[in-house]
Amino acid sequence: MTKHIFVTGGVVSSLGKGLTSASIGMLLESRGLRVRMQKLDPYINVDPGTMSPYQHGEVYVLDDGSETDLDLGHYERFTSGLLSRDCNYTTGQIYLSVIEKERKGQFLGKTVQVIPHITNEIKSVIRRMGGADVDVVITEIGGTVGDIESLPFLEAIRQYAIDVGRENCLYMHLTLVPYLKAADELKTKPTQHSVGQLREIGIQPDVLVCRCEHSISRDDREKIALFCNVPPSAVIEEKDKDFSIYEVPLSLVNNGLDELIVNKLGLTTAKSLDITPWTDLLHNLRTPQHEISIAVVGKYAEHKDAYKSIYEAIDHAGMSHRTQIRVGRVQSSDIEREGAERLLAGYHGILVPGGFGERGIEGKVQAIQFARERKIPFFGICLGMQCAVIDFGRSVLGLDAAHSTEFDKDTPHPVICLLDDQRNVTEVGGTMRLGSQPAKLVPGSAAAIAYDADDIHERHRHRYEFNNSYREQFTAAGMRFSGTSPDGQLVEVIELPDHPWFVAVQYHPEFKSKPLRAHPLFAGFVGAAIDRHLRRGDHERTAPQPAVI
Ligand code: GLN
Repeated sequence: MTKHIFVTGGVVSSLGKGLTSASIGMLLESRGLRVRMQKLDPYINVDPGTMSPYQHGEVYVLDDGSETDLDLGHYERFTSGLLSRDCNYTTGQIYLSVIEKERKGQFLGKTVQVIPHITNEIKSVIRRMGGADVDVVITEIGGTVGDIESLPFLEAIRQYAIDVGRENCLYMHLTLVPYLKAADELKTKPTQHSVGQLREIGIQPDVLVCRCEHSISRDDREKIALFCNVPPSAVIEEKDKDFSIYEVPLSLVNNGLDELIVNKLGLTTAKSLDITPWTDLLHNLRTPQHEISIAVVGKYAEHKDAYKSIYEAIDHAGMSHRTQIRVGRVQSSDIEREGAERLLAGYHGILVPGGFGERGIEGKVQAIQFARERKIPFFGICLGMQCAVIDFGRSVLGLDAAHSTEFDKDTPHPVICLLDDQRNVTEVGGTMRLGSQPAKLVPGSAAAIAYDADDIHERHRHRYEFNNSYREQFTAAGMRFSGTSPDGQLVEVIELPDHPWFVAVQYHPEFKSKPLRAHPLFAGFVGAAIDRHLRRGDHERTAPQPAVI
């Protein structure tokens, strides 16, 4: 019988429910349990694919091409369970399928209502996650308790315990225990109120995970327990981590959370905990051998969630090289105003990530030209690859107005353009080239060496492609097309062999990087940046360290 953990959040948003849920998933897996993770989001968009990264942060793409919430990135990075479309539902998707059923006459003349039709649909998507091969399903409910739009989800998870038995469900509520400087005190009242709201809906949480800046005293813990109707042992402290997010699972273990869950849900097959790889990881993180800096040049630089997986993948590569990486988030439009030299000189590597829309494109192209000419390690991702092609076309081949037709429909040199199957698409949601696709690499290329493989699978999310009519011209001028789709038609990887590390890819490798298994291209890029740092002699420790993980 599959057990269910429901994670809700209270008091304020951005408490890190996703990270906490992922950490719990990782701890349960480390106890030998088979875990699946799911996120239910209360907003009405069918998926986050059409939302601006300013609104919602990065859109995380799964193998099956679904465009999902960035919390699914945490799930994939922390746990090994494969994620699919079923792992992320929004209010929009739930309503869409209920309305489609209604149009087909499947409700037999009944009035279609939130309860039971919407709640039944929600319960069915939760139920779908369970099965003979799953011990625990962790379902995170987006939003904050008290929001109007969360209500159907909370009602559905309340009913779920009636359907499958209360003993098979565990409600975990994440709250904030703020510190008031003036009073020099932690305040428990917001937590009491938030739990009060949950109980009004009919949900008595089993475990409270309390986010806090300062440790919660025994007295405060007992007070929270008493007012919120849980034993003091179920009041778990989750203190802010200023060092690394990878401390979260360890701090939850120190507060006894994994044991509490195993006991509460009667998970008799759970083994004792083994998180040695994670403690080793943290050790490496704490004892770096080098320190380098990488510039990420993007349009959404000021929004820290917009390139979430990119920053994470850089961290993973840093950990694999035992190197601390200072990431400079550089606005590409600032480069247009102030010049690449002023903003980028001094970095050991330059990364240009994916994106949409024209703003800041010229700044990205300038950043890439700077990296190419100064021989600074460069890594381009999706739009970053397209900009690298534009720069090469303009500066090396002299195709002055070379551009992508996404930004200049009438360019005389459409080096990046739409291929036929994307030309007639008029809808925006879910219509790109999406999800995992195979690619073959040229043996001996930088990419093939980094992957140590010639056949790869990577995730895509884009509409535009390299224009094949320019391939010969680019090749003759020194660009290497080191990866293509298996039929050779779609350019997947480009590189410049006469540069220390100039690799750009049409796909999104950042989605497949994990803390314990850095993505080979990120590791290669960071390795090249470390080489530059060592060559330039701006370091204290000289011995290059081999990858440790
Ligand atoms: N805007 C570009 C395209 O659609 C790149 C997309 C991306 O970087 N994800 O092809």
